Amino acid sequence: MVWGAGMNRAQKHTLVAEFSVEALGVLAEEAATLEPREKRTVVQWAADERILDPLTAPIPGRFNWDYTPFWIEPALAMSDPEVRAVIIQKPAQCGGTELTNNVIGWAIDENPVPLMVIMPSERDVTRRVDVRLRAMFQACPSLMRHLGGDLTNLNIGKETILDNCILYLAWASSAAALGDSPVCLVIFDEVDKYPDLVGREADPISLGQQRQRTFLFAKTLELSTPTDQWGHIHRDFQAGDRREWWAKCPHCGENHILRWANVQLDKTKEGKLLSPSEYAAGGHARYACPLCGSIWTEVERWEAVSAGRWAPAGQGVNADGKLTGKVKPNNRRSYHVSALMLNPVFMTTDRLAEKWAVARDRYHGGDHGGMIDFINSELGEVWAPTEATTDQTALAKHIGGYAFNTIPDGVRVLTAGVDVQMDCFYATVWGWGAGYENWLIARRRIETTSFGEGAAGAMDFEPLRAFLTETFPLPMIGKTEETMPISLTFIDAQYRTDQVYEFCAGFTGGDCYPARGEDGLRDGYMTPSKLERTTERRRRILRRGQLELWRCSTLLLKSQLARLMNVPNAGAGHMHLPEGTDEDFLKQMTSEHLRIERKRNRYGKMQNSRMWVLKPAHTANHYWDASYLALAAARHRGVHRLTETTTTPPKRTARRVSSMDRFRR
Ligand SMILES: [Zn+2]
Repeated sequence: MVWGAGMNRAQKHTLVAEFSVEALGVLAEEAATLEPREKRTVVQWAADERILDPLTAPIPGRFNWDYTPFWIEPALAMSDPEVRAVIIQKPAQCGGTELTNNVIGWAIDENPVPLMVIMPSERDVTRRVDVRLRAMFQACPSLMRHLGGDLTNLNIGKETILDNCILYLAWASSAAALGDSPVCLVIFDEVDKYPDLVGREADPISLGQQRQRTFLFAKTLELSTPTDQWGHIHRDFQAGDRREWWAKCPHCGENHILRWANVQLDKTKEGKLLSPSEYAAGGHARYACPLCGSIWTEVERWEAVSAGRWAPAGQGVNADGKLTGKVKPNNRRSYHVSALMLNPVFMTTDRLAEKWAVARDRYHGGDHGGMIDFINSELGEVWAPTEATTDQTALAKHIGGYAFNTIPDGVRVLTAGVDVQMDCFYATVWGWGAGYENWLIARRRIETTSFGEGAAGAMDFEPLRAFLTETFPLPMIGKTEETMPISLTFIDAQYRTDQVYEFCAGFTGGDCYPARGEDGLRDGYMTPSKLERTTERRRRILRRGQLELWRCSTLLLKSQLARLMNVPNAGAGHMHLPEGTDEDFLKQMTSEHLRIERKRNRYGKMQNSRMWVLKPAHTANHYWDASYLALAAARHRGVHRLTETTTTPPKRTARRVSSMDRFRR
């Protein structure tokens, strides 16, 4: 038998044993080194090689997986040939960066292949390299050897050539990330903060995956704090096998998934949450096992986590720690980590309760940011309020009971909203009753003629005037002598601005104001502002009438409109649609959803902002835009003051509205 590449381990062992060690003249230890070394896993490699720097690590010294037992399985999956992708939806501070570092170090030292790390921005990469990666290289002699012993060889934004492989440290819009050189292992970090590259050829995630095609055993590690259900990480988590960590109760021995709902919080006599500082002081929050009801101490919570294990969706864990149930194999492993799984050194139930109380306080003050942050960054879960989306099938159930251009019982006031396009208007007229119950009365795409585009262009507003004045007032159903005109119309003045001003100033069939939707309006639902007298034409218009532009918060108004659309039964808040409402209208009304944008503010702090944006498959949202303007007009007319017993529409406010009369929540 001759030593060769085709031999298995047992054959090599036999061969080594067949030779007398003395006859070969080598020591036994040296004989052992003749055998090619088995490749270490990420877990073994990190335990052997990683020393954590006291400057950056909360627990310095040799890397110890015992502090984060839930990272062991995802790390092992990185060297499992059956697994193609490891996807981790996680809270903000949970050791994810060290996991990434371990995978990078292992890949370079143990499994050299072209590898790439993609972070959201250049700033993120620079920070990661300066604070964490350099420290890892410096503390690990084998990595330094691959780097040629010089830390300055580590490049950012372009390739770093090591003695055995190529490493790319890139950000989402960098040339390295968008290039086409093949890579085998790609780490996508903080994917929900990637800039939206819609309109380009592809996003960094699909580009990265295309570059892996030449490798048979290409592997992807993707991790992020989630945003909402449409974010990258949650969609990829859902496409994987959706693993949750099952913790073993030290009291009853049964396993369950840790949930924030199982945390008991002390409250005041009135049933209100205590102050954040009281929770921070400790003793007012505790985890309770949902199966046996026993209260866990922090030590017991950690015992339970340490004795736990991962199980994919569809499977459970029995008291012996064995998986129950069966699921189809999935080569995309996805994991959900929550702050409740963290070692008390990093996070305690008291500290979580404090954060929760802060978030609740801010939420009741009208600021959703803290609540979104708690759900995303502590629970590692997606933010999904009921008002965040609209559904065409659900809205279709609101059709019936009356016809277009009739005014049903219950309507007390009519308002209209108009969306101005290049060659047409989209107008909606809504009827309003007590508690914001609402009826679509008319909707029309009004064709017109236009000349030229933009500021230089003009369009014929006569067809719009005809629609608003000739069709209305309409008779009320069953009351032939009573009619109802449109009380107030809001017209979008974003486009053809001067012409809209001119139209509003000269309109005689009721009140008609120019309006503009703003994403970042911080002044309540809407606020009037004086028109700038920038041009001679505008000065002339303004001399004809006291005109103000109504700046409308698209966030608040569209959120309210979505809430109205989601009220299922007739009565307060319910949206009624007439017989014959077509699919196109339903499509447009459900064309947008509320998204979270995660951005750094000018002080460098990450901030959540919410914004209504088009759903991916939708293009037209004109009726939706026209409807939120009609809602703004309804708020202006004081619809919120209508009660069941009010018999007449609320009194019209004077045409001239003082700038002091702001509409706040
Ligand atoms: Zn229990």
